Amino acid sequence: MRKSSSAALLAIACLAAGTASALDLKQLSSTGLKAGQALTLSDQDVAKAADQSCVYMDKENKVAPASSPYAQRLARITEGLANEDGLSLSFKVYLTEDVNAWAMANGCVRVYSGLMDMASDDEVRGVIGHEIGHVKLGHSKSRMRTAMLASAGRDTLAASGNANIAQLTQGQLGELAEGFVNAQFSQKEESAADEYGYRFMKRHSYDPAALASMFRKLSSQGGLMSSHPGSEARAGRIDAMIKKDGKR
Ligand SMILES: [Zn+2]
Repeated sequence: MRKSSSAALLAIACLAAGTASALDLKQLSSTGLKAGQALTLSDQDVAKAADQSCVYMDKENKVAPASSPYAQRLARITEGLANEDGLSLSFKVYLTEDVNAWAMANGCVRVYSGLMDMASDDEVRGVIGHEIGHVKLGHSKSRMRTAMLASAGRDTLAASGNANIAQLTQGQLGELAEGFVNAQFSQKEESAADEYGYRFMKRHSYDPAALASMFRKLSSQGGLMSSHPGSEARAGRIDAMIKKDGKR
């Protein structure tokens, strides 16, 4: 997270369907679950972890003040999006060159200025819709659960027999928050979030083609993306959805 290169990679991994999945269940059971066997997590625990992780990330990153052109642009872009599909949303911009965005199960949505620099308004909306998809489809919750079980704080959490986030040190909380933000979704989850993002664009009368153009921009960025066919394939799937809907 702190190194811009690794953060840029993970952003691309989420937006561009990474090849490897951090949600490797075998790996989870051999590390996290064994150490945290006594740990049971309710939805409420996970929501609390999201609240704390969001506060932590806001403290660690440079949040664009309300007077910033980035904050003003994001406010304009997200006008009318206070509540989406039953989820209350709160938006902020992190001032960084990294190309990234994420959402947590509590509706905390963060967009990085590096992503805003390369995206049109509707492309930013497409990314937001995609990230909300991860939350609404339950991916974010399981990702947070995984981060909790894999973090250094798992033993602290397990020792008390519950998931009291307040018991974590700042360092442990930081590891949890960054573990969440850095973890990758599976390709299947990315596809499902893409489809959610597409429906989101249609629902709000935004241009759904912006989701495809965003993937193509990521694809032409070079580096990892140039050797990664994922983005172009995803853009193609969005094109196909547009075409299919257009024929109805
Ligand atoms: Zn994603």
